[in-house]
Amino acid sequence: MDKTKYIFITGGVVSSLGKGVAASSIGTLLEARGFNITIQKLDPYINVDPGTMNPFQHGEVFVTDDGAETDLDLGHYERFTSLSLTKKNNLTSGKVYDTVINNERRGLYLGKTVQVIPHITDEIKKNIMEAADGKDVVIVEIGGTVGDIESLPFLEAIRQFKLDKGKDNVLYIHLTLVPFIKTAGELKTKPTQHSVRELRAIGIEPSIIICRADRMLPRDIKAKIALFCNVEEGAVITAKDEDSIYDVPLALRREGLDSKIIEYLNIWARSPDLSEWENISNTLKTLKNYITIGIIGKYVNLRESYKSLNESLIHGGLANSINVKVKYINSEDFEGDCLKEKLKELEDCSGILVPGGFGLRGINGMLQAVEYARINKIPYLGICLGMQLLTIEYARNVLGLRDANSYEFNATTPNPVINIMDDQKDIGNMGGTMRLGAYPCVISKNTLAYSIYFRNNKRYNHVTNDKNGVELNHDGTISISERHRHRFEFNNKYREAFEASGFIFSGVSPDGKLIEICELKDHPWFIGCQFHPEFKSSPLYPHPLFRGFVAAAVKYSNALNGLEKSSHAKNKRKTLAL
Ligand code: GLN
Repeated sequence: MDKTKYIFITGGVVSSLGKGVAASSIGTLLEARGFNITIQKLDPYINVDPGTMNPFQHGEVFVTDDGAETDLDLGHYERFTSLSLTKKNNLTSGKVYDTVINNERRGLYLGKTVQVIPHITDEIKKNIMEAADGKDVVIVEIGGTVGDIESLPFLEAIRQFKLDKGKDNVLYIHLTLVPFIKTAGELKTKPTQHSVRELRAIGIEPSIIICRADRMLPRDIKAKIALFCNVEEGAVITAKDEDSIYDVPLALRREGLDSKIIEYLNIWARSPDLSEWENISNTLKTLKNYITIGIIGKYVNLRESYKSLNESLIHGGLANSINVKVKYINSEDFEGDCLKEKLKELEDCSGILVPGGFGLRGINGMLQAVEYARINKIPYLGICLGMQLLTIEYARNVLGLRDANSYEFNATTPNPVINIMDDQKDIGNMGGTMRLGAYPCVISKNTLAYSIYFRNNKRYNHVTNDKNGVELNHDGTISISERHRHRFEFNNKYREAFEASGFIFSGVSPDGKLIEICELKDHPWFIGCQFHPEFKSSPLYPHPLFRGFVAAAVKYSNALNGLEKSSHAKNKRKTLAL
């Protein structure tokens, strides 16, 4: 018998109300009460997954261990809970239609007319139940806003759930906006009333309403929402804007959200232990000092594009008791006439980071940033594309291979330091075909990478899922597992030349063939990794690379401040000779 309880979260009024953070926070609260949970996202768009979408369109593509390219909300789910999610946790309309149309072609519908109801809705329900298998509670977030044409099949499917599973086993939570209108000096409930009415018109009656607002809702406003929306007053929950998203689970708990959930679902549970989250919240509130990290990339105009990266830097800051201020610099502005001015912008950065990316645009700017960090001995972290560029910059400026390049930017370069991977050469379909997901990496002894992952022989529990933690091998090397998303790799033809000049390949695939981490001998902290560490960092377990990067940036900043105080040493920091 299916003992799983289902919580469906819909959103109303406007998008970007933080449904993902609300779903994640409910996950935090229910896990803290001892439930075995999972969280699933249903996305109404027709793309089979977001992997083929431009980051400007959709924000970051989050990658799971099993190599699914998913919605960025899955990143929140993993950061707020102990979950390690899989491709089952993100379902799009595109994926549903793809399966149904394939089934139809195979004759599986026995001559019937294939329709949205029941065929599409049945396929949606089947996917939800598969994700929920064996869990106490599954939290399902429905993307989009109630009223969108696109999300109707999902809403119809979740409506049917209550009939299928019984009313004690299904709970609908609606997240809305309660705006404060300055000129009237009032909080307005009308948008919430309308959006709940819309939901009820399609047969879904929410039992709990979470209201985003810039202030706590007073009793009379809650009473009004309760009356008009047909819910209990105690089930109208304020979700006030918080300084940090990591305060949200605590804020929702104070409003009694988790108690209401277990009451409505009729499940017994211990009271939650949230002490670790309280620690995080208190630490974030008391941090006074900050350091600045410069991110040089081309998707900097949309913060959502680097969601996990941003969060990971906050985690790195938490581990070092410092605020991290991120300065985004568009790599495309970093060229030609503006170069000098842009390099100046890097002067107050204590660390430089070049994140992942695709395509030729903005590459020269990023290369300039790498060179600046290398020469000025500023801590540098290059992620995926940022690692590839680190090797190209080195090949050009240290090894003297002026035309060194990546196959991605110039397929006919005589020096493809970064080459296309063998299994990527004959790829026809672009969707889901990169080297994706978790792969192991072996780190050599006596390297910076080793000390970062395994300092003082103590393993960092840097992942929520212990079995993916750091392993000590018999020969003294260590093994880690990290998530990937790339088509290109370091070309082994150049390995000897690099090594001969003091370049270190500190992490490789177990067969030794693929470069995973590289670093420089004559630099305090200069690291490139072919994988994406930002997908495995959380506030409770800051990832060692971000912990280490922020620590190095703090050290750099202290040294620089010390110098500036003690002498005229502003110029000690040479700017790159142009
Ligand atoms: N474009 C590069 C590749 O495909 C880097 C990818 C990335 O940064 N995620 O290998």
